[in-house]
Amino acid sequence: MSRVFLFMIRINVKKGVVFNVIGYEFCALSRIVFRVFEKYNVIPTLTSAYDGEHVPDSWHYKDLGWDWRTWGLADPKAAADAIRRQAQALDYRYTVIFGDKKHLDHIHTEYDLNKKNT
Ligand SMILES: [Zn+2]
Repeated sequence: MSRVFLFMIRINVKKGVVFNVIGYEFCALSRIVFRVFEKYNVIPTLTSAYDGEHVPDSWHYKDLGWDWRTWGLADPKAAADAIRRQAQALDYRYTVIFGDKKHLDHIHTEYDLNKKNT
């Protein structure tokens, strides 16, 4: 892979996804998600950002929560774990959720401004 391509990423966006801003936090995170999904030969698809139905105080409504489709990932839990590890190495405020009842077909990612550095 050439040096140029190392910096290039691609993200598919589900119809209806709404953004008010694509901030620094998700530019950095998107690169991580792309590189992890690449190992499974999957181009990441965003299924929700500001749009959708989430709990009222969700980071989605502050442009700090994005959901990623897990279709095609041979091991979505391992992918989520890799994303979490790499994101939190950058900044402890990243939270990555996969595997509970509400997070089986997507990986929820957020940048939690209230998170304590433990
Ligand atoms: Zn979410």
